[in-house]
Amino acid sequence: MSQVELINISKSYDKQKDVLDGINLTIEEGEFFVLVGPSGSGKSTLLRMIAGLEDITGGFLKIGGHTVNHLPPKDRNLSMVFQNYALYPHLTVEQNILFGLKARKVDKQEQQKRLKDAAEMLGLTDLLKRKPRELSGGQRQRVALGRSVVSHAPLCLMDEPLSNLDAKLRANMRVEIRRLQKRLGLTMIYVTHDQVEAMTMGDRIMVLNDGKIQQVGKPITLYNEPENLFVATFIGSPK
Ligand code: ADP
Ligand code: MG
Repeated sequence: MSQVELINISKSYDKQKDVLDGINLTIEEGEFFVLVGPSGSGKSTLLRMIAGLEDITGGFLKIGGHTVNHLPPKDRNLSMVFQNYALYPHLTVEQNILFGLKARKVDKQEQQKRLKDAAEMLGLTDLLKRKPRELSGGQRQRVALGRSVVSHAPLCLMDEPLSNLDAKLRANMRVEIRRLQKRLGLTMIYVTHDQVEAMTMGDRIMVLNDGKIQQVGKPITLYNEPENLFVATFIGSPK
């Protein structure tokens, strides 16, 4: 089970004003859910709380029906892909992809099987012995995806994973990520500040502004029936 429930979630850093305020939301198993909003609206903070990388100030977070507020990241059965890829420069592609499995002491044979599957899926088979500096931006992004694929975690969190890529590659990678999510049956929570990306990728979208939910719904609903001026302007405006 990888359903995610946020119950009245709030967050403040160092007793300053809330950067997230009363977030209530249920993300269904197998759903591609997009969190979209302008810079500073609280997207990364929310994703990092779900991952367990940031304390939750108020409310409850449930994954698969269990409250996980105080569970460390490694016990949440999820994977995360960051904007800057976060690859280890001194390790090869293979070592980068397998890093998490080695740490979890997954059986060697099982590691190799997962590596082979992921490399085939992502077109990395011929690049396994290279170092990150010998790869293009798109290839590095695929390595970061590979790390998430081999984890076999049912829940995947992505924070602006395509923002360092050029427009053409970005368009290709959107399709690849959707295909991967479907094929693996992942529950996806995908953060972007790009309306086009949100509208083309999401089963459902949540628009966030200044730490508050503006609207949650299918892309077509947000487009045709925005609930307020912010959503109308944000979704309707070209990038
Ligand atoms: P987004 O990802 O939508 O750009 P963030 O979640 O990064 O937004 O930031 C939301 C708000 O929280 C911003 O006002 C930001 O300055 C503040 N913030 C983020 N991280 C920290 C931190 N570690 N300490 C203090 N304030 C932070
Ligand atoms: Mg962010």
